[in-house]
Amino acid sequence: MPTPTSHGSRIDRTRFVHQESTVGGVSPGATHNGRVTDQLLSARAVVMRDLEATGVASAETVSLLEDAVSERRWWAEQWPAGEPYVGGLVAQDVQDALLMRVGRWPVCPRCEDAVHALHIHPELGGPDPVWVCEESGAVVAALGQLSTDS
Ligand SMILES: [Zn+2]
Repeated sequence: MPTPTSHGSRIDRTRFVHQESTVGGVSPGATHNGRVTDQLLSARAVVMRDLEATGVASAETVSLLEDAVSERRWWAEQWPAGEPYVGGLVAQDVQDALLMRVGRWPVCPRCEDAVHALHIHPELGGPDPVWVCEESGAVVAALGQLSTDS
């Protein structure tokens, strides 16, 4: 394996620093993108909590969640005012993805022997998204607050 000369590595480092300063620059766009990342991370975290609480967290479902989060990135970047909706929208995306692969999620924990699912209310994904029983219309839990015994 060839050892890079000190000359070569200095050039590489310079290029790397240049790219970093472009990405992390002080333009309003960069600041907004940082906030988008935060908001996507928190969307990922709340949906992850519900996947875990309902016992369906697995390598497969987590990767569906990752896909949903990365697909929402462009959308979130285009619409800064959409922040309150991101968590609920990611939850809906994951719900759709799970329906095709695993089945209904999350199954209503409120009704006895339920086979119906909960859905996100408001349907737009926010603000303050909650899980609502499809049949009774009752609010079961806030997004991220599902528990196995609720
Ligand atoms: Zn129900």
